[in-house]
Amino acid sequence: MKISEIHGDKVQALLLENLGDKPELVECSTNPEHGYRQVDVGLLMHGKVQYQPCLKCMARDRFVRQGVPPEVAEATRKNYSITHSEQQHQFNLWERWVQAHIKREDEKTFLLMLGTVGTGKSHLATAAFKALGGGW
Ligand SMILES: [Zn+2]
Repeated sequence: MKISEIHGDKVQALLLENLGDKPELVECSTNPEHGYRQVDVGLLMHGKVQYQPCLKCMARDRFVRQGVPPEVAEATRKNYSITHSEQQHQFNLWERWVQAHIKREDEKTFLLMLGTVGTGKSHLATAAFKALGGGW
């Protein structure tokens, strides 16, 4: 919650006083492309200026806590890299399976992915987990 969205002039004034000349938002320190980190309003109430992780880093950490390997924690269908036609064919099969499960068709099937190291199985497994609503 941004300080400007907090109702109550006295609380807002206290928060702004505690913030001093520090910014309410700072760039994500892990990856500037993520966006911004916001000051922790709860701690700011007690005079401590500390910034929360950005939303993408929070989501990433949540997936890792749930067992997703850190190296593929940001995997999605959109950032899956297809470099040859067989990979495109496998991706199309994966996409069909995911869409069928999103639409709750064919729910009694499962997805089996086989391949050598580095072919994208973990990436697609994570992307399927996310696409099907996992991670909460
Ligand atoms: Zn981040």
